[in-house]
Amino acid sequence: MAEPADGREPGSTAVVSPSGAPPRHGCVGRFAPSPTGPLHAGSLVAALASWLDAHAHGGRWLVRIEDVDTPRCIPGADRAILAQLDACGLRPDAPPVWQSQRADLYQAALDRMRDAGLAYPCGCSRRDIEEAQAARGLVRGRHAALPYPGTCRDGLHGKPARAWRLRTDRDAAGRALAGPVRWTDRDHGAQAQDVEREVGDFVLRRADGLWAYQLAVVVDDAAQGVTDVVRGLDLLDNTPRQILLQRALGLPTPRYLHTPLVAGADGQKLSKQNGAQAFDAARPLASLRQAARVLGLREAPGAQQPAEALSAWTAEWKTRYRPTDPAGPGDPPRAALSTMRT
Ligand SMILES: [Zn+2]
Repeated sequence: MAEPADGREPGSTAVVSPSGAPPRHGCVGRFAPSPTGPLHAGSLVAALASWLDAHAHGGRWLVRIEDVDTPRCIPGADRAILAQLDACGLRPDAPPVWQSQRADLYQAALDRMRDAGLAYPCGCSRRDIEEAQAARGLVRGRHAALPYPGTCRDGLHGKPARAWRLRTDRDAAGRALAGPVRWTDRDHGAQAQDVEREVGDFVLRRADGLWAYQLAVVVDDAAQGVTDVVRGLDLLDNTPRQILLQRALGLPTPRYLHTPLVAGADGQKLSKQNGAQAFDAARPLASLRQAARVLGLREAPGAQQPAEALSAWTAEWKTRYRPTDPAGPGDPPRAALSTMRT
């Protein structure tokens, strides 16, 4: 890939900020919905936050339709989502891209990791994995998925290849990875996860031939020059896996900001899986106000149109998230220590 090493747009000018933090010139944000249904009130929060963040810092905002999990996609949902965003005045600064059209990029990334000895084929069925876990005394908790025990790291043992996995125990130079992946969320502060111990070697290409979410996201964020990932808190614990992938592929790590989730009447996070309704795009200002409230923004009472409210919130966002906010692995935490585990 032809991105500059720091992930900024080609041709952008690096300006060193007085604090020494990474410059925000050329900031690129994105919203990346799965077309498994129309956007609900919770997904509008992530869309609004990512739009505000890009605009508050003079950057560009992109939309990417994450349709790699084709069996879960609903025909026409992508167009419905784009129409909902448009009604709210959330318009991308470049034509949207569809992940289903980008398989060549994902294959090239997998090939690079395979050649570096970091990706390997796995022949395990679900049952093989459960048996291997049980043999190691691992018992599944109420919510937790057990880590993959690394059965096929040293070969397929005569089984046919099913999926491809990433080695989480060493880097591209063959050195052992020691300790957890550490990174800083712009809101939630210092985070750490030992991916090998808590998740294990995770899937890059699934047994059904579909590309795994983690690989597609990492490849696309880099290919699109995304500098700032702003998305729902439910994806916080995916971040360490994505950072490991960025390192395996020699890609820059963006800054991360995870936004609050919206609970439904049952107290569970709103999701398409639990039947969350589409937000009301016929009343875009009311829907945006509801999303802004979740983000702790003021009401923008004088606004008559979405554009006026967006302008007020952009100014407010700018005072809350300064361009010199530290982020990225190795930066000092700016909020209380919190650790998220899978
Ligand atoms: Zn295996």
